[in-house]
Amino acid sequence: MKTTILTNCTVIDCTGKPAMPDMTVIIDGAKIAEVKPGRYEQEGGQGEVRVFDLEGGYVLPGLWDAHVHLFDLTPDPQHLLSSESAIDCAIRGGRQAMDALRAGITGIRVVGDREFSDLAWKRAFEDGVFVGPRIYGCGQYICATGGHGWEGPNAVQVDGPYEMRKVVREQLRRGADGIKLAVTGGIGTAGESMYESQFLLDEIRAATEVAHQKGKRVTVHAGGAGGVKTAIRGRVDCIEHGYYLDDEAIEMMVENDVFYVPTIRCTQDRDFINEESGLPEFFIRKARAGARDHLESLQKALKAGLRIASGADQAPSSEMALREIEHLVSAGMTEMAALRSATYTSAELCGLEDQVGTVEIGKLADLIVVSANPLEDISNIRKLRLVLKAGSLVDIKPQEGLVDFSDLFR
Ligand SMILES: [Zn+2]
Repeated sequence: MKTTILTNCTVIDCTGKPAMPDMTVIIDGAKIAEVKPGRYEQEGGQGEVRVFDLEGGYVLPGLWDAHVHLFDLTPDPQHLLSSESAIDCAIRGGRQAMDALRAGITGIRVVGDREFSDLAWKRAFEDGVFVGPRIYGCGQYICATGGHGWEGPNAVQVDGPYEMRKVVREQLRRGADGIKLAVTGGIGTAGESMYESQFLLDEIRAATEVAHQKGKRVTVHAGGAGGVKTAIRGRVDCIEHGYYLDDEAIEMMVENDVFYVPTIRCTQDRDFINEESGLPEFFIRKARAGARDHLESLQKALKAGLRIASGADQAPSSEMALREIEHLVSAGMTEMAALRSATYTSAELCGLEDQVGTVEIGKLADLIVVSANPLEDISNIRKLRLVLKAGSLVDIKPQEGLVDFSDLFR
């Protein structure tokens, strides 16, 4: 078994403990075997041992992007979304996933994709066909006929509880780890309000009953407070976006211990929400109009102590996931809380908290090393030195001959 030793480092373990300076982390094979104070002194080695002197670097759990669509591309100046084949789309999605890992995103939660390509990539990465991030996939994206996102190649339009049961069971048969529904309108679809309710209670309940029988969670795209409340009455496990959460909605989320993935940069990221970025006019108008309510909703959720996971909802994750973490801090989270959102809480949302999400003995070594302290400046998560997935070292150098994702697809 290969042993990997990280020494002369500060560990930010994301369990809730403060940072621990001058530590050594010993990884046996795929798992963390020891996390202890002091430097590693070379001993008579048995087996294969590699030692990294991190010169004061920072060891953290690998980051997650908890709201990804591998197929998505916004803005889309080449109109790839409406013109490319499913195979072209799957190749683009896989490239996005592999880029994410090279940026320190060791896990992605895919919430609605085309032709189950999320689950195909998950198998390919798990089998070692390619080196990519850990994937939690929801299969297709389920919306009402003409509902939010209906025009996307990832959508399946469903009406009534009977169709819902059938389609949810189909996702589960294909191997989905969870189910994603759109219960309200949103920003990216024309001709609807981002707050209007769409799925009805009996439709939502049909989905949660079937998914929960199999021990799988249901998450919902939900913009307005009305839709959030209907979804919680329908026993969903997580709210995505929450563009407007009133006090009652927050209270219901607390009472039902519902997760929240705010995707806050969708309305706050001014580098992205502007005319130059090539977004449609209605998109910019809705995102700007909703910016203040969205920010206040996140701040209410923070105050209420909800479990908040970090998800960017825009490709490529290699950049956008990092931006989301920075925006969580701008919105009022401490650096430590934002890191915990992007590690432990995101892993917990995927039901993987016993395996990954913290630097603890017995967990899989999905780890990153950065050269400067992200607790002093959250953007230091970009100063990446090493990425490990299940104890294996990931090559993070730009590969010769590889075109930049943005050059190729934007
Ligand atoms: Zn989304």
